Amino acid sequence: MRRLLWLCALCAFILPVTGAAGATDATDATDATDAVSTAGAIDTAGTVDTAGAAEAVESDAAIDTETIDLDNAALESLPESDSALAKREKTDVVYLPILMYHQISQKESKWGDYVISDREFEDDLQLLKENGYTTITVSDLLKFMRKKRKLPPKSVMLTFDDGFESDYVYAFPLLKKYKMKAVFSVIGKYTDFYSQENISKHINYSHSTWDEVIEMHKSGLAEFHNHSYDMHVMEGRRGALRKRGESLEAYKQAVSDDLGRLNAAYAERIGGVPEAFTCPFGCYNDTLCEVLKELGFSAVLTSYQKINKLTGDPEEMYHLNRFVRAHNRNIPKLVESWNVLFEMVPAAKTNRTKIDSP
Ligand SMILES: [Zn+2]
Repeated sequence: MRRLLWLCALCAFILPVTGAAGATDATDATDATDAVSTAGAIDTAGTVDTAGAAEAVESDAAIDTETIDLDNAALESLPESDSALAKREKTDVVYLPILMYHQISQKESKWGDYVISDREFEDDLQLLKENGYTTITVSDLLKFMRKKRKLPPKSVMLTFDDGFESDYVYAFPLLKKYKMKAVFSVIGKYTDFYSQENISKHINYSHSTWDEVIEMHKSGLAEFHNHSYDMHVMEGRRGALRKRGESLEAYKQAVSDDLGRLNAAYAERIGGVPEAFTCPFGCYNDTLCEVLKELGFSAVLTSYQKINKLTGDPEEMYHLNRFVRAHNRNIPKLVESWNVLFEMVPAAKTNRTKIDSP
């Protein structure tokens, strides 16, 4: 049984929490559905379509505490040779599951679709490690797509949206503990707001400061991307989508100005410009995608809930699907369904993909 989960309702749930930073009130879900030209289908059991693989196959991946370090080392030191690239077959595919987190809290009353406990996050890390998964970032994926690096055989990407302070307080220490990486997409306006002195803060609603972002970035375990400076709203326009009646020229300028402001802040603080845009509220359409390409973004994180099946077409980077990690979601079952896919694609082949673009 499948049901639709409209991701615009997602951040409408979160926004009142961030009201101190000037966020607008929640938009009702019915209205929100209109805003999303594409929305993800979620399987309530947390499974993916395994094309006939009805039976879950237990992964035989070794539980090896050194796996992560070894695979990360491979990412850095083993560029694919020209001959290896030449042997890539057109039929090869790479599966990449991506999990989408928002906030972590120890306050039980906050737990829900977009807030989980720190214990749940640690359980996820342990589970992924025990099942032989290696965390990768957007830049790791881009290097792979640009034919410069291999991917570990069972890669997974962990993403955190909105830049809550719980990223720093709860997620970051656990990433260090397990030597795993994650991708963070902050909302520039809130990062600026909570970086001010004498601001009232509380872990249940605060966002990370720039100092915290810098510390996380320097660890090498956290990669930061763009979730807009001030387009994380559902008033005026829905996320970063074009407003009704807005000229294309004005729309492009608005997106360029807003995203450029956060890119400039990143460049100043961590010395680099993010290559990925994470769609506020999951609001995504072809027009936004084209504008993002013109602005130089190389990847887009959406909110479709399904595994990524990558064939090497660069266009696939502009529509990366993610599974919402909700409180009490059956993550072991979800990971088991991924294991089925990886079992179907022999490990030796997951390092290879069709790349026929220039
Ligand atoms: Zn968001």
